[in-house]
Amino acid sequence: EVVTRFAPSPTGYLHIGGARTALFNWLYARHHGGRVLLRIEDTDAKRSTQDAIDKIIEGLDWLGLDFDDPPLFQSDHASRHAEVAMKLLEAGHAYKCFATTEELEAMRAEQRANKQPMRYDGRWRDRDAADAPEGAPFVVRLKTPNDGETAIDDAVQGRVTVRNAEIDDYVLLRADGTPTYMLAVVVDDHDMGVTHIIRGDDHLNNAFRQLPIIRAMETIEGGWPDPVYAHVPLIHGNDGAKMSKRHGAVGVEGYRDEEGVLPEALFNYLLRLGWGHGDREEISRHEAIALFDLDGVGKSPSRFDIKKLQNLNGHYIREADDARLAELVGQTLGGDVDLALLAKAMPVLKTRAKTTHELVDGSRFLFAKRPLELTEKAVALLDDEGRERLTRVSKALHAQNDWTIDALEATTKSLAEELELGLGKLAQPMRAALTGTTTSPGIFDVLVLLGKDESLARIDAQAS
Ligand code: GLU
Repeated sequence: EVVTRFAPSPTGYLHIGGARTALFNWLYARHHGGRVLLRIEDTDAKRSTQDAIDKIIEGLDWLGLDFDDPPLFQSDHASRHAEVAMKLLEAGHAYKCFATTEELEAMRAEQRANKQPMRYDGRWRDRDAADAPEGAPFVVRLKTPNDGETAIDDAVQGRVTVRNAEIDDYVLLRADGTPTYMLAVVVDDHDMGVTHIIRGDDHLNNAFRQLPIIRAMETIEGGWPDPVYAHVPLIHGNDGAKMSKRHGAVGVEGYRDEEGVLPEALFNYLLRLGWGHGDREEISRHEAIALFDLDGVGKSPSRFDIKKLQNLNGHYIREADDARLAELVGQTLGGDVDLALLAKAMPVLKTRAKTTHELVDGSRFLFAKRPLELTEKAVALLDDEGRERLTRVSKALHAQNDWTIDALEATTKSLAEELELGLGKLAQPMRAALTGTTTSPGIFDVLVLLGKDESLARIDAQAS
């Protein structure tokens, strides 16, 4: 059975890159009929906050990524992590290091002076713990292989090889007995039964340090198979640098709140960002589950392109259910707006919108109170000439009983012909009077949505 996991450190919001990692793990598990788990890596008590945990869970939920078990909190398992360190110690795959802080600092200073790579030199690797002063504090270090090399057949990066001499005997347990991050990740992945580790390629180096723990435990007790690794290139901004705040929103909620993006659009966009299936851009959730696999993940970093996201968002807005969009827009507009009216307006509003904010802005005229506030351009259209035309329009529309698009269009057109004017010459002042602006949906849609009484009241308020 395939088991994947998303393992965020709750130190801020759900980063867009983290969301994509979560998505790939989710899709891989769903594609293979496996399970996907959530682990909150909260061992850094100083930097982890409840607010960050809530935001991550909320963001995942909004994207529609569900997990097969309640989240596991890494900090709950510290004693299990220590237990594994002790097994490694007893079996000789780890050792106690009594080097003092001053000693280690001197070691690093010397390495720096000799321009050597800075790493622990293994000074307690072969020493007898009995050499240490009675009761002296110690850390537990992993005894990593010194010779040969380790190769990982990464499902995204291909075969990657590192010389074992480059991997130092790093700390598993601190002097106070608490586990390090490196140990905790490996133990939790094993205990959760994780088979596939899909994560950002900033963790590729860690894989070479984590694998020796797994291999040592496999020799000690068995049942610790190598996981499949898939290290996904990070997301870059449009200038090619690693995605950061200066490129725009980096948190998922920023795309929802500030960019007015629908979750299915972000889902589709994140999927396409680093994974491809031919040149298909629009891929539904359902198709994504059917199509996703690791072979489609690219090896080079992808660039975040807000225009592409907005185009996809426009597509999903047009596909979305009108009542749902009305609900969303209604929440932003606040007050007790008429949701039925909003839903009725959606087919017209959504044809052009690329963000939910555009839906909000486009629908404001529906709820505007008389006298309408007018934009400068609208005022310009309502000059003497414009107001005279509105008087003629008003007269024709008062007599209009069939308040439908076709009938209103026929009436307005015949009036334009009678006045020997283009239709636009009537429609422009009408739009200004009806919406207070110079951009709106088609003028007959506007008339129908507002209804006869409100339409005429707005027109008459501006007619001469
Ligand atoms: N907690 C790590 C992070 O947020 C991920 C660890 C992992 O995926 O192995 O970057």
